[in-house]
Amino acid sequence: MALLQKLKTGFINFLYPSFCLHCKDKILDSQVFCKSCSELLCLVEPLLNVKHFAAFEMLGPAYSLFKALKKNNFTNLSKGAAGFLIAQFINLKWPLPNVVIPSRGNYLNKDHVYLLAKETAKILDVPFAQKKKKNETGLVICDILNKKVITDFSNQESYILGLCFDVSFDHLNFLA
Ligand SMILES: [Zn+2]
Repeated sequence: MALLQKLKTGFINFLYPSFCLHCKDKILDSQVFCKSCSELLCLVEPLLNVKHFAAFEMLGPAYSLFKALKKNNFTNLSKGAAGFLIAQFINLKWPLPNVVIPSRGNYLNKDHVYLLAKETAKILDVPFAQKKKKNETGLVICDILNKKVITDFSNQESYILGLCFDVSFDHLNFLA
């Protein structure tokens, strides 16, 4: 039993670093952030009637989460990050999409955005696809919400949800 527990803990430590992703403090095995960093991780106050938004500003623990996702492509980290996207999706009161699509990445290049979109689709229980069909409402998942993503997807019937706002992104100016 003790051995099994040890193996499990070892496995968890492999999946989750035993140091806080942000401040590098030592943490309990199944956590990603220490208590104080978790408290700093706040969703951006949602605006209603917008079609693109992000969960976090790109700073502090959220920025560390983005960097870790990009570097590691860990499914478990994507799952945790997708949880934040879903929370923000609910806050935004957006309609349930027909399909969730990644802003980039594909079947051959399963990058962090691809994994993040896939996990989001799984939690929402909505199909995941590389592209949306005509007449479908799509939820586009991106890591950084910037002008390029918005330009790329704005002509489609899509909602765009990013993990973080681009640092230079003045989202209040972007809403019209
Ligand atoms: Zn920390």
